[in-house]
Amino acid sequence: MRTTTVVIGAGHAGLAMSRCLTDRSIDHVVLERGQVANSWKTERWDSLRLLTPNWQSRLPGYDYQGNEPDGFRTMQETVRYIERYADAIGAPVRTETTVTSVRPDPGGYLVSTNQGTWRAPSVVLASGACNLPSIPSVASALPVSIRQISPLDYRNPDQLEPGGVLVVGASASGIQIADEIHRAGRPVTLSVGEHVRVPRSYRGRDIKWWMDSVGLLDEFYTEVDSIERVRRLPSLQLMGSDDRRDSDLNQLTARGVRLVGRLVGFAGGKAQFSGSLGHLCALADLKMNRLLERIDQWAADHLDEELEPPCRFEATRVEPNPPLLLDLVANGIRTIVWATGFRPDYSWLDVPVFDPKGRLKHDGGVVASPGLYVMGLPFLRRRKSSLIDGAGADAMDLSGHLEAWLKTGDGRRKTGEQDRTRETGQGRRATGDEERTRESVPGRGAGTQGRVSSRPSP
Ligand SMILES: Cc1cc2nc3c(=O)[nH]c(=O)nc-3n(C[C@H](O)[C@H](O)[C@H](O)COP(=O)(O)OP(=O)(O)OC[C@H]3O[C@@H](n4cnc5c(N)ncnc54)[C@H](O)[C@@H]3O)c2cc1C
Repeated sequence: MRTTTVVIGAGHAGLAMSRCLTDRSIDHVVLERGQVANSWKTERWDSLRLLTPNWQSRLPGYDYQGNEPDGFRTMQETVRYIERYADAIGAPVRTETTVTSVRPDPGGYLVSTNQGTWRAPSVVLASGACNLPSIPSVASALPVSIRQISPLDYRNPDQLEPGGVLVVGASASGIQIADEIHRAGRPVTLSVGEHVRVPRSYRGRDIKWWMDSVGLLDEFYTEVDSIERVRRLPSLQLMGSDDRRDSDLNQLTARGVRLVGRLVGFAGGKAQFSGSLGHLCALADLKMNRLLERIDQWAADHLDEELEPPCRFEATRVEPNPPLLLDLVANGIRTIVWATGFRPDYSWLDVPVFDPKGRLKHDGGVVASPGLYVMGLPFLRRRKSSLIDGAGADAMDLSGHLEAWLKTGDGRRKTGEQDRTRETGQGRRATGDEERTRESVPGRGAGTQGRVSSRPSP
């Protein structure tokens, strides 16, 4: 089978790319190993809600039109949203099609799947940033009596062995899972490494509204110092809930979660923690205050309505001498949850595009092999690249690059070019549901309290 572009993965990133390729009349197919929105269906815990508000899931030609722009989608709602998008744009998705290898071919790339082989001059990797848990090597030294689980397999507290739980990692997944397990009546110890503290709301508005308005999320990958370091930054300590509650470490310790430092090893059944807990918390507080200062400055310069006054939040409370050693069995800990981040899985990519550490080499999504592109990785092109809300701008840029490459390449663009009118006709079909297709990427949702007098361009 031949096409011009093979897109691998029918999550929001692959679908956003599909829509942009259709708009450019580039013939393509989207290969998906499961169903549309597979990761959200099969790899998330039951109670998870998006931590981005409803208005902040804008995709090319599609935005939120419901009555709760500031609410947070459940997983079911997220799946439905992405499914409706695939339907609305008429994405040419082939489900239950697992890509088993991609290798260079005289015509571009040979994409092998469990449903046959595709040849295409260009390939877009939209297979996700979170396919595998990043688990530190110290895990191998754990006693066999301790059960280990990652957020990709965690569903709810009932699934865990009776007894205490050590959650390792205090970013978005770790704090949410620690909170849920503790609320279910289990003793929880939380191992805290580098983390990014932000309040859910500030001066009457959601922190994501502020970050979007200030222009932080649009920051471009060429504008920041040390992009490789920034790409490895942990996710924000945030959760989405009806009561819009904060989920920082003070909230957790107030409810009885015990904090320990960064996990550094295991020996003789004892977990070893670094003594850096106080330092890491102070650093996170400092960075949060810098962000709030930036917001205050922007608000003073750009908003003309009354806001709640600026405030600063209580510093993170840390016990004076948190334990550096913890005997897991003696402390009744039966389970470890590794909330230590995720990584993509490109084990099927047989193209020499990896650095010595095994990371994909790319320049803002343009992979180091002609005609190969990637979507959805952290800070791929913009700070918001890994968010649903970031896929649209990246897909527009990268589909533009891909189109130019096809045109200036060796003429392979002619392969399978398709009828633009037919495809865009499908793509513009209204869903009649809470989200509707639009002709262009719209602005923020209607319910983002208050008006902005002006906004810096990204
Ligand atoms: C716990 C968690 C919470 C999150 N919360 C938010 C949030 O609140 N807001 C937000 O905007 N984003 C959130 N993100 C999502 C974040 O945006 C992710 O980076 C997102 O999954 C990336 O989207 P994607 O389309 O690139 O990848 P995915 O949604 O993972 O889609 C990739 C698709 O590729 C398919 N695939 C993979 N390998 C193959 C193969 N070999 N062959 C065929 N198909 C394949 C997968 O089945 C999957 O359907 C969250 C992520 C996680 C893990």
